[in-house]
Amino acid sequence: MFDIAIIGAGPGGYTAADEAARRGKSVVLFERNLLGGTCLNRGCVPTKALLRSSKTYAEAIGGSEYGIASSGVQLDFSAMHTRKAKIVTSLRDGLTKLMKKDKVKLIEGEAQIVSANDASCTIVCGNMEYEARETVIATGSVPKRIPIPGIELPGVLTSDDILEGEGKDLSSLIIIGGGVIGVECAEIYAALGRQVTILEAMERILPPFDKEIAQRVNMHLKKSNVKIEIAARVAEITQQDDILCVRYCNKKGDEQQICARGVLIATGRTAETTGLFVNNIHAKLEHGALVCDNDGRSSLPHVWAIGDVRAGTTQLAHVAMAQARNVIRVICHEEQLMNEQLIPSCVYTSPEVASIGITETEAKERGLLIRTAKVVTGSNAKCLIEGGDSGYLKLISAKDNGRILGAQLVCPRATDLIGELTVAIAQDMTAAQLAAVIHPHPTVNELIAEAALQLI
Ligand code: NAD
Repeated sequence: MFDIAIIGAGPGGYTAADEAARRGKSVVLFERNLLGGTCLNRGCVPTKALLRSSKTYAEAIGGSEYGIASSGVQLDFSAMHTRKAKIVTSLRDGLTKLMKKDKVKLIEGEAQIVSANDASCTIVCGNMEYEARETVIATGSVPKRIPIPGIELPGVLTSDDILEGEGKDLSSLIIIGGGVIGVECAEIYAALGRQVTILEAMERILPPFDKEIAQRVNMHLKKSNVKIEIAARVAEITQQDDILCVRYCNKKGDEQQICARGVLIATGRTAETTGLFVNNIHAKLEHGALVCDNDGRSSLPHVWAIGDVRAGTTQLAHVAMAQARNVIRVICHEEQLMNEQLIPSCVYTSPEVASIGITETEAKERGLLIRTAKVVTGSNAKCLIEGGDSGYLKLISAKDNGRILGAQLVCPRATDLIGELTVAIAQDMTAAQLAAVIHPHPTVNELIAEAALQLI
């Protein structure tokens, strides 16, 4: 009998395994594919590695702006993927070592819960049975497929196809869905000089982000020759020789058709619980995701869920890791550590985008009295040095007590800067406290100090 069984070894699963093992628990961790899950093998890490390569290519071509003129710049798509694979493998090797050091029993294969009662769960994997007092489900999510004719055609891809293995070298690409995956993949291919079109159903790309951020990203992508159709209703995908064509209705209601070498479906992800429960075990599900209480407890006794598979969760690796730390603490009768409500969001475009806390629009909708300060990157030395002069940082504070409530950034290193602002909000810091801290010069961080000063 194990103390804790964990199904799925993505960021949620391996973090839970490490937390549990460090508390002296015996842990069995099941993974049907590769240690590291979606994030490491076909998600966050490969995307960012490919974005780095495509940025290097774009910079090499556009180097004359920096005084470096070059000719004969060669794109080696396969070498890009080899570099990505090296990074992924090295991180996965690190995880393997960590699990070994933690004495976590790693079982390769598809796990199924065959019985769950008040004392334990029985899990079958291969032809072996395992029993555990507590079971944590961390099976993640899979790309959502929209129900339109032609979705099963070869050449219709998901992010898995673009990010895993050798990737897909395509001279033209239609991306259905202008969310985070759609936008980051558009950035990769556009920087490589490929023809990219985004078809987004809503009125703007990156719908959950602030309108102004979406406009900036929209502007940047258009400058990189990405064609963007908003309010597009996709009807069908057809194949004509080795070309795929997408029929859709544009914003005006006119029927259109565009064709490309590949079509990427980036319309969100669905919780993965397929085949997880057998023998008439019924866990409460919502659209396939496990319904849990605030501690992560599912409707089954001693069965917990973390990450993308938990209903209502923001599908981000750092949220899965935070939930893992909290669930293991609850299982071990300790206080939760992580504040699961304060979630930074990042998009790794050029310039980068990051957001934390409330936006100006949300504050208005909630009737909050706020003050805002906006600093443009054109006034910051490091941003100009980095070539990122078309962005901004917006800071929002409460009018009465000056507490920082939110921040939105479109600037170089925004995804790193957001950490400081997340800490400020988590620690109830005021604009005055933030402004009183010396920020080094020249750095992009000075944008934060500058905005804070404007709020006092
Ligand atoms: P998403 O929910 O961010 O975006 C999906 C987009 O597709 C939305 O804009 C939606 O309006 C659009 N859409 C849905 N149906 C459509 C249709 N029929 N036609 C046209 N457009 C349609 O999902 P995603 O981009 O697939 O990403 C999946 C998950 O992975 C998200 O939760 C995301 O946060 C996460 N992710 C995060 C990062 C990051 O943090 N940098 C990167 C990649 C993915």
